[in-house]
Amino acid sequence: MVAPVVPSLYDCLIIGAGVVGNAIARELSRYRLSVAVLEKELDVGMGTSSRNSGVLHSGIHYTPGTLRAKLDVEGNSMMQELCAQLKVKIDYIGKLTVASHEDEIPTLYKLKEQGEANGVPGLEILRPEQMQRLQPGVSGLLALYSPSTGIVCPYGLTIALAENAHQNGVEYFLGRQVTGIEKNDSGFLVTTKDGEKFASKVLINSAGVFSDRIARMVGINDYSIYPCRGEYLVLDKRLGHHLSTLVYPAPHKGKAGLGIHLTKTVDGNILVGPSNEYIDSPEDWATTSYIMGRLREEGEALLPSLTTSDIIRSFSGIRAKQNPPEIGGFKDFVIESRKDVPGFINLVGIESPGLTCSPAIATMVRSLVSELIPLEEREDFQPQREGGAGFFHELSREEQADLISQDPDYGEVVCRCEQITKKEVLDAIQNPLGIKCISGLKFRARVMMGRCQGGFCLPKIVQILEQDFGYRPEDFFSYKEGSYLFTGYMRQPK
Ligand SMILES: Cc1cc2nc3c(=O)[nH]c(=O)nc-3n(C[C@H](O)[C@H](O)[C@H](O)COP(=O)(O)OP(=O)(O)OC[C@H]3O[C@@H](n4cnc5c(N)ncnc54)[C@H](O)[C@@H]3O)c2cc1C
Repeated sequence: MVAPVVPSLYDCLIIGAGVVGNAIARELSRYRLSVAVLEKELDVGMGTSSRNSGVLHSGIHYTPGTLRAKLDVEGNSMMQELCAQLKVKIDYIGKLTVASHEDEIPTLYKLKEQGEANGVPGLEILRPEQMQRLQPGVSGLLALYSPSTGIVCPYGLTIALAENAHQNGVEYFLGRQVTGIEKNDSGFLVTTKDGEKFASKVLINSAGVFSDRIARMVGINDYSIYPCRGEYLVLDKRLGHHLSTLVYPAPHKGKAGLGIHLTKTVDGNILVGPSNEYIDSPEDWATTSYIMGRLREEGEALLPSLTTSDIIRSFSGIRAKQNPPEIGGFKDFVIESRKDVPGFINLVGIESPGLTCSPAIATMVRSLVSELIPLEEREDFQPQREGGAGFFHELSREEQADLISQDPDYGEVVCRCEQITKKEVLDAIQNPLGIKCISGLKFRARVMMGRCQGGFCLPKIVQILEQDFGYRPEDFFSYKEGSYLFTGYMRQPK
């Protein structure tokens, strides 16, 4: 009889490689621990963490004393240094929350008071002429200005956290869907869809919209997630200069989100959205013609120079709501070390502002881990991410010439819209976590993210993958297992 394979015992296993799971992984990589991350998708950050507004919220919207309020303000203040270490684009461009009607003005004062109670710095009520100075063309009666609101590249941050965690020893197992968990004397035995086993002393549930299902696998039936979709339109960079700060409408009670608004991204596009619709499936990332039409109308009202040809793409993200549609609104994050399931750290309902909170959540989880196993700091922890030094086209002419002289692949542009070179594509393909889907290339190198959405560069990228790396047509997935880009050859290659 063949002896069963005994999986090696990790100190900590994290389920879910979104921004939160990866922030926890990086934080734990500071200590002498064996840590692994299990992710069901082919790459990190394929869930909500790459499908959001990318706003670093200041903390005005959350009830004082809640985890969301505390972790948001903490997370926001940690981001500048974190993004510098990880070489991730970030910009504190501030935000105007605008009252357009008299009855919205008390909301602004309430938000200011709430924000101050939460420790949000620099809040000011502005009159129309002061608003106009910050954002020409904005109209309204009064606005609350929050200078600590910022923008960050959400998938860039998620990937960078994972790469830096990996660089510091965290193991990543992608394409591993957790389907079962057993509690035993040494901790947990986790089974994946393909029957692989992983053992750990501490198990961390960071599975986003699936966190309720993971909790149920260890017998915790206290939580349910109600998926709530937010759809967006992405606008061409032509319009990017129209926004110098973020402009949001004053919020209305009971709404699932913060209202449709324009958000500038760190790469210069504008997002219109997000909508909010409760849906049945936690992974139904469709965009719908009805919502697209509504977003377009609202986008035109907010930005009159918008034309149809400025809309280059649509996408959606799904909020992990703990309240059903009939209740709506927000419920506080659940971040707990379960006494009834010792060693199980449970994160449920990490909806907005989970991106902003992620480094602070990681610190909180680290302190929960320290109550379960002793933590000893590593002297060789490397906070600086290797590679990821920004885009070639953003460098000066001299710097570009220097790089081309070192490597001629910098001299060949693959993606014309975003001006991405062959060397950047090669680096993205050879990233430390490996590449198994085209979306992973998009999120790393920004290829296929411009006006033509891959019409020009996708064939070139496929050629590179085939000729330089030996990929076959059946290896090209769009974003997940089975999402084939090609079904085979029309004509066998010579
Ligand atoms: C429309 C929208 C707009 C938002 N805007 C903002 C914003 O501007 N600012 C902000 O701060 N926050 C924002 N958020 C919130 C933020 O995006 C989320 O809080 C954050 O991304 C959650 O990260 P996560 O790691 O918990 O979840 P996810 O990114 O969903 O990661 C969970 C991971 O777990 C994996 N997983 C699930 N089940 C399993 C399993 N069985 N086995 C293995 N892996 C599994 C998933 O594949 C996924 O990769 C927004 C959210 C939405 C939907």
